[in-house]
Amino acid sequence: MISIEQAFEFIDQTVHALPTSIRPVVECVGHVLVSAIQADMDSPPHDKSVMDGFAVRSEDVTAGTKRLQVIETIIAGDWPKLALETGQAARIMTGAPIPAGADAVVMVELTETEMIDNNEFVTLNVDSLAAEKNILRTGVNFSKGQTVFANGHIVRPTDVGLLAEVGAARVATATKPTVSILPTGNELVSCDQFPGQGQIRNSNGPLLNAMAKGLGLSVTDLGVGRDDPDQLRELIERGLNSDLLLLSGGVSAGTMDLVPGILNELGVTQVFHKVKIKPGKPIWFGVLERNEKPTYVFGLPGNPVSSMVGFQLFVRAAIRKMMGTGIDSNQSVVAELTIDHQTRGDRPTYWPGKFVNDDTPVRKVQPLVWRGSSDLFALGEAEGLIVFPANVHESAAGLPVRFHPF
Ligand code: AMP
Ligand code: MG
Repeated sequence: MISIEQAFEFIDQTVHALPTSIRPVVECVGHVLVSAIQADMDSPPHDKSVMDGFAVRSEDVTAGTKRLQVIETIIAGDWPKLALETGQAARIMTGAPIPAGADAVVMVELTETEMIDNNEFVTLNVDSLAAEKNILRTGVNFSKGQTVFANGHIVRPTDVGLLAEVGAARVATATKPTVSILPTGNELVSCDQFPGQGQIRNSNGPLLNAMAKGLGLSVTDLGVGRDDPDQLRELIERGLNSDLLLLSGGVSAGTMDLVPGILNELGVTQVFHKVKIKPGKPIWFGVLERNEKPTYVFGLPGNPVSSMVGFQLFVRAAIRKMMGTGIDSNQSVVAELTIDHQTRGDRPTYWPGKFVNDDTPVRKVQPLVWRGSSDLFALGEAEGLIVFPANVHESAAGLPVRFHPF
């Protein structure tokens, strides 16, 4: 049996990033950039006005001249034709380029205009005017060549404006893996049925499906596999067409735990089986290497909380690696326990917990009442998993612990 750290190491060594795909900028959300994005021009690209008003020479105002001749109107999209001389102004709109000679803009609300002998004049109702007022200079947001997103960045909806501004119309991103999901067990019925004697509903199928979809992956639902070698073999073979196959159940030591044997028959090489973790010890991981396009396979334990923890830690790490980011095994925060807590056994325990906000700046988590790997009820209230290290059986209130939020 290997440690959690070793399991992450094996995943990191075994799993490779999928080939890059190029996608239109609006299709990039949730995808990982596989190269840094640089600005192809300055922002703003020209000195521009941030107000509707009049572009002027501030020295005119300083010298006491407040009535100026209007020589031009510059709207956004125009390019100024004239340079301002002493005593002159240009009407200018928000976003329009600043004409040569001007070094400030007076907002329209502080001005009045009049016609004198067919010439337009503007009077500035200001006592003083600082140079640069209402002007945004070329390149102050960012300059040409500057990196605006690093390699490995995961694109959020709010990033798309900047990508568009720098002309990243088509973006190289990591490809998301395709996933097949196959829960196994003779006792399982679909969640739209009422279980008969000895039966239970298939929780893991929908759970794993939703978790994979939550990461933006496309999922093939293979239905439920029976503990029957021929049927299982056929379904597993179909699942091996995906980049990632997630099985649940049938990976421990019972007589009907057929999954590792069948995977082995089908040429899937075992990388590890059993990790020192609670819940989720029987987890199985392997790879089918085939013409450059491997399929990675996880056999997750049948108990739903074990399956969930296995996905949250190990499957997610493999997915991240396939998508071109690091496996990022330690996405946790430190928080204080709100109550004393007991754990048993010699494996690190991932225990459902929730944040407690008591209006102090210290982050606190409360371990929930939880009956073990088959108890999904606690997860209804949980916001993440508290890690209790191996062989620590008493944890007192106030102790700092690691918490992995969902
Ligand atoms: P197994 O790993 O197949 O021995 O299953 C361990 C436990 O998890 C058993 O109590 C199973 O009934 C239960 N179990 C297996 N698969 C599922 C599933 N898809 N949904 C809910 N419980 C399951
Ligand atoms: Mg079973």
